[in-house]
Amino acid sequence: MNEEELKAYLASSGAFLDGHFLLSSGLHSPNYVQCALALKDPARAGRMGAALAAGWKGPKPDVIVSPAMGGLIIGHEVARAFGVEFIFTERENNVMTLRRGFTLARGAAVIVVEDVFTTGKSTLETDEVVRRHGASTVGAMSVIDRTGGKPFPFPTASLLKLALTALPAAECPLCKAGVPVVKPGSRKF
Ligand SMILES: [Zn+2]
Repeated sequence: MNEEELKAYLASSGAFLDGHFLLSSGLHSPNYVQCALALKDPARAGRMGAALAAGWKGPKPDVIVSPAMGGLIIGHEVARAFGVEFIFTERENNVMTLRRGFTLARGAAVIVVEDVFTTGKSTLETDEVVRRHGASTVGAMSVIDRTGGKPFPFPTASLLKLALTALPAAECPLCKAGVPVVKPGSRKF
């Protein structure tokens, strides 16, 4: 799946949303990518996972770890493409952790997979979980990268880079115009 094909599919699946959004960073944006809408077709989700795995130049992972909920489907598809297991982290009392009997072997090489990198917060929190178990994050992947090139402490790969238009509420023209703000990417979403 190349970049043009992915963009066309994101558009046709309704994943590109226009409006007034409160991002998890606290900034306001006039647009949002609801990647879940583009992952509802299992065949296309599988092709996205295969494309991420095929383009990976780093060390082969022993396991894929994704933060729930956003990373679940694409992480599972990347794991399928690499032929390795898939587990996920989730928040317990607001702290990212492994539950459900999931464990990581000491020294395991992990790739963290997300749907969208925005602030990078959940990827970094997942990396903390990986390191707490004595494993190491050898890279991170996402379908879409909206960080604007913000560096992670490990190599990353994404299928599509998109500029993020985001402003503090005090400078937001949509707030000034009285447009109600919605929180589509809430950490509880
Ligand atoms: Zn606003």
